[in-house]
Amino acid sequence: MPINLTILGSGSAVPILGRGVTSQHLNINERRILIDCGEGTQLQLRRFKVKFQRIQYIFISHLHGDHFLGIFGLISSMSLLGRTNKLRIFGPDGLEEIVRHQFKLSQVYLSFDLEFTVVSCKEKELVFEDNSIEIYAFPLKHRVKCHGFLFQEKPRPPKMNKDKIKEYGLSLEEILTARRGEDVVREDGTILNAEVTHGIEKSASYAYCTDTRFVAKLPEWIEEASLLYHEATFTKAHTDRAKATGHSTAEDAANIAKLAKVDRLILGHFSSRYKDTKSILDEAKVAFDKVTCVEDGDVYLVN
Ligand SMILES: [Zn+2]
Ligand SMILES: [Zn+2]
Repeated sequence: MPINLTILGSGSAVPILGRGVTSQHLNINERRILIDCGEGTQLQLRRFKVKFQRIQYIFISHLHGDHFLGIFGLISSMSLLGRTNKLRIFGPDGLEEIVRHQFKLSQVYLSFDLEFTVVSCKEKELVFEDNSIEIYAFPLKHRVKCHGFLFQEKPRPPKMNKDKIKEYGLSLEEILTARRGEDVVREDGTILNAEVTHGIEKSASYAYCTDTRFVAKLPEWIEEASLLYHEATFTKAHTDRAKATGHSTAEDAANIAKLAKVDRLILGHFSSRYKDTKSILDEAKVAFDKVTCVEDGDVYLVN
């Protein structure tokens, strides 16, 4: 199943023409997930033809306006258009209070239920799982509490080699054992898994790391991710600004990608001081060459 990521907004701080503030839509095994929701996200969803009533989960990294101010308008439109399905929202402490207070004061009674889960962790932590995916949160280093997320497929059962099944005369019980990833042990003690399966496929994963200084533990938490989105608000020329505002340079982001041995890196959350992304991309390429700077509307295949 394809896992698609749509970039809805790739800028930072304030929306500008051609670059909205941060938001992304991830379709992973038919789970529709909105990641951050800056102002104007609902218009970007329409612009890039993502059906917003199908969103089941929203993950908010932190409570800076460029990452969550769009949530009120989006929820409001979902209700006006008659949504009945529950919406699950994961985010920092305080998010539920702000959202419910807003609708209470404006006497809006939503047509559907909101269910909030507070994300607050000091290490990598599982925050959601179902029969097909797992979602982890981990702490980032910003001016306010901020989390990154890892969206990952659960390991798939190994594919069986039909010819070898016949050759070794595997029983149904042994086939099921191998499919569960457990050892198929013969009477003489030999383990057959390597012979009778085509091996375990690597499960795809997407790591989302925004608004953060360099985090030394990050590579361990997102190791070998298929796709990494990392903010690169500044270039090295503005290291002082990056430090003062709790952000990364393109070099920081590329070093994280290299240390984590991810397959591909995409960069975003650019400061509007840069007219184009050339200097950011050139700087990142020194440490990690499978890198792209994102634009609003880009779609990436994660797997
Ligand atoms: Zn931001
Ligand atoms: Zn921020």
